Amino acid sequence: MIKDFMYYNPVKLVFGEGKLEEAGKWAKEYGKKAVIVTTGTLFKESGLVDRLQKILKDSGVDSIYYPDVDANPLNTQIDKGAETARAKGCDLVIGLGGGSAIDAAKGMAIVLGHKRPIWDFCIGADAAAITVKTYPIIAITTTSGTGSECTQWSVITNPDTEEKPGIGSDYTFAKVAIVDPELMVSMPPKITASTGFDTLAHSIEAYTADLATPITDMGCEQAIRLVGRYLRRVVKNGEDREARNAMAYANSLAGIGISVGIVTVCHGLAHSIGGLTGSTHGETLAAMTPHTMRFSMKAFPDKFRKIAMFLRDECGLPENYSLEDSIKEVEDLIRDIGLGAPLSQQGLKEKDIERAADGVIRYMGGSITNDPATPSREDLIGIIRKAF
Ligand code: NAD
Repeated sequence: MIKDFMYYNPVKLVFGEGKLEEAGKWAKEYGKKAVIVTTGTLFKESGLVDRLQKILKDSGVDSIYYPDVDANPLNTQIDKGAETARAKGCDLVIGLGGGSAIDAAKGMAIVLGHKRPIWDFCIGADAAAITVKTYPIIAITTTSGTGSECTQWSVITNPDTEEKPGIGSDYTFAKVAIVDPELMVSMPPKITASTGFDTLAHSIEAYTADLATPITDMGCEQAIRLVGRYLRRVVKNGEDREARNAMAYANSLAGIGISVGIVTVCHGLAHSIGGLTGSTHGETLAAMTPHTMRFSMKAFPDKFRKIAMFLRDECGLPENYSLEDSIKEVEDLIRDIGLGAPLSQQGLKEKDIERAADGVIRYMGGSITNDPATPSREDLIGIIRKAF
């Protein structure tokens, strides 16, 4: 029986090596002057920003460049970026980078359209507050990764409250996502590993979520297979074009997965812990995923058992495969790509463990109700302690 489901993802996905060259063709459909958002000046120094500005210019689109965004973008940086873009007359926002640049671009598009600070749209706000007034967004991803180019989500950190919610609505999907694997070749092994693990965590969570759909399941299964086949390879050799290409595709498949299936408790915890520590998202997920899988899998064994089969890229589930095989495959991968530092080595303090659990309940509650095992506060504390 096919379960009842709802599926919606309106992103125009432009995939392939060299597709950055099409940025002007797409941008001119949505605006006349773009603000290009990056995390720091890395892409200015590498010439990528100049290249993009020329591509836009050749299609008649002016642009300015806003680099004042941290990895894990802050609400204040988003407000300031929107103010700068408004003063310069921008009508289009382009995120050029990983999840942080793209999420900041989405946040700026909301602020530009509604003329209110981004935090007004975060904790406790209704998603309906984000309306059609949101400025158009183009996402050009340089990590593989968060899948943010294909999601409606924008993850924003408030350093005053130490909270890191994910917000989004139908209006925060990018109009166009450009996924050009050539832009990912410059990622060093550590960033390749941590962002690649995020792709795996998204696929596992959206695949096992209550909101999973048959359509997103297909993408998640394929994304897990591609991670199993290529992530070790590309961490070892960042110039491996076939592996970069495959991981870029897995990233977008997993992003489509979480745009509909959403995430479960591992991501809920990663947001709350990230708000407290500013830790690297993929590394925090790697510390927790084996523990959250072990917690959630008993409630939904059929799908969790298949994860080992996907990661080993096998067809047909051998009868002797157990749930622990799936966890072992994930643990082996974490070890082989050099992740796995416990949360205590990622800035989490023991005194903040309960606070981290409370954060999930306060502002990432959807990750609990969407999890097949629906963890209690005590369960959340227990998971964090195991990953600590
Ligand atoms: P990131 O965007 O924070 O980038 C990490 C670092 O890598 C930065 O210093 C960046 O400048 C650098 N970098 C990016 N591309 C590079 C390249 N090609 N070569 C060299 N360096 C490069 O990393 P990320 O993992 O893509 O994004 C993480 C953020 O996204 C977190 O805040 C996380 O919570 C959020 N997130 C968002 C979604 C979503 O759906 N919107 C989903 C998951 C996570």
